[in-house]
Amino acid sequence: MDSIDFQTTFDTDEYIFNEGDPGDCAYIIDSGMVEVALDKDGRKLVVATLTKGDILGEMAIIDRLPRSASARAIVPTEVTPIPLDYVSQKIEQSDPTVRMFLRLAMARYRDMNVRLEQVFESLSLGQGEASDDPFAASTMELKNVVSQFAEMQKRIDSAVTKSAPTEAGSLFGEETLEITKLLVTEEKMLKAAMTKKEFRLHYQPIVDLASNRIVGCEALVRWNHPSGEQLLPSRFINQVEDSGLIIDLGYWIAEEACSFQSRLFNDFQHDLFVAINLSGKQFEDQFLIPSLADIMDRTGARREQIKFEITESLLIDNPELATQSLHQLKETGAKLAIDDFGTGYSSFSYLHRFPFDTLKIDRVFVSAMSRSEKSNRIVKSLVNLSRDLGMDVVAEGIETEQEAELMRNFKAALGQGFYFSRPVNETEFVKLLRQPKIELAG
Ligand code: C2E
Ligand code: CA
Ligand code: CA
Repeated sequence: MDSIDFQTTFDTDEYIFNEGDPGDCAYIIDSGMVEVALDKDGRKLVVATLTKGDILGEMAIIDRLPRSASARAIVPTEVTPIPLDYVSQKIEQSDPTVRMFLRLAMARYRDMNVRLEQVFESLSLGQGEASDDPFAASTMELKNVVSQFAEMQKRIDSAVTKSAPTEAGSLFGEETLEITKLLVTEEKMLKAAMTKKEFRLHYQPIVDLASNRIVGCEALVRWNHPSGEQLLPSRFINQVEDSGLIIDLGYWIAEEACSFQSRLFNDFQHDLFVAINLSGKQFEDQFLIPSLADIMDRTGARREQIKFEITESLLIDNPELATQSLHQLKETGAKLAIDDFGTGYSSFSYLHRFPFDTLKIDRVFVSAMSRSEKSNRIVKSLVNLSRDLGMDVVAEGIETEQEAELMRNFKAALGQGFYFSRPVNETEFVKLLRQPKIELAG
């Protein structure tokens, strides 16, 4: 894991970076003032004085060249660092055209700077081309470069403002800056959370509706935040995915969940299945499937009792990759479930193309069943369809006896929801298993 500690406060006259340094970080100024200057043979050319809300050091981050100027705090200054890794990842994830334009804009920006420098040099050395006024040519050139520069700034400004509305006239609005700062800080905390082992798995029972016996569970990740709060995935999973951290976290989750399956079987003689959520991003990792197979082996999990849950978005966004990966995953001997079925662009027609063993009916249909005849019919046809395709069905989000009863009428085999149990930690889960039947909450 890379270093996450960049300096955030600078005293008067302290350098944030020097010309020629490699760029490992850009900065947003939170308070104070920074002078950006070029050193020309011992003479200083101040190119900008930046204050709160301004960004500096971004050029070296985008084009990966050394710092083209130095930055010095001229009063005590506080900054939010935006690490190279963070920006690189965001750029790599962006549209290739945007990527190209950004790099091109930076190259031109540097080029302008070089030309400005040359003009500055010739002006100060009195090397203007021969004419009545020795400075005339250089002055013209300077005006040209400056006006081209201003024009380019204007274009970049308007392009950025159009794509993300900000305060009138400003390249980076307050809101954008605040969001960036928040994201950078959160991502640092997420990375630290991995190293500090702040993630935990909870397990939610999945029960056989006919007998109310636990037959398996779903592993759900939680973050024991340093603030003392336990955070649910909705608070962090998107960022974990966007930052690429889902690859490492995903392996940790798989390892934990597979070890749990193995412990349940070997230590407690309960042969239950454990369902593991896989995000679409994890499928971009070419080692995903062999690594999962390896994890199942190393942990001693029973492969046929490991069930990977994926959502429809994977099938829709990349059907080719999905078909190939899901077949390979199936060949490992593990089971596959399609999650949140009915919420995406569900198409019954493509279901048979993928080797799913289980269909999980999304909570929205289950909870709407008692209120809406339409939802009732949707659930009924999903149950029938699954049976026709030889799949098990899990009704998700069962919260009441009435919902459980309605599902039993449809002969849906399995159910999951707060009515049976909330997701609980391993110790609590093992306690639930000691009961012959799950004690009902409602
Ligand atoms: P999901 O895969 O659909 O997981 C089921 C979610 O529904 C869980 O929320 C669970 O606590 C909640 N739930 C279960 N029964 C009920 C109920 O009766 N009523 C209500 N209102 N909710 C119920 P959770 O744990 O907050 O997870 C949310 C989502 O985060 C998951 O949805 C899944 O998409 C994602 N997620 C959770 N753990 C992981 C993980 O380990 N890896 C990945 N990639 N995603 C995960
Ligand atoms: Ca799931
Ligand atoms: Ca689900």
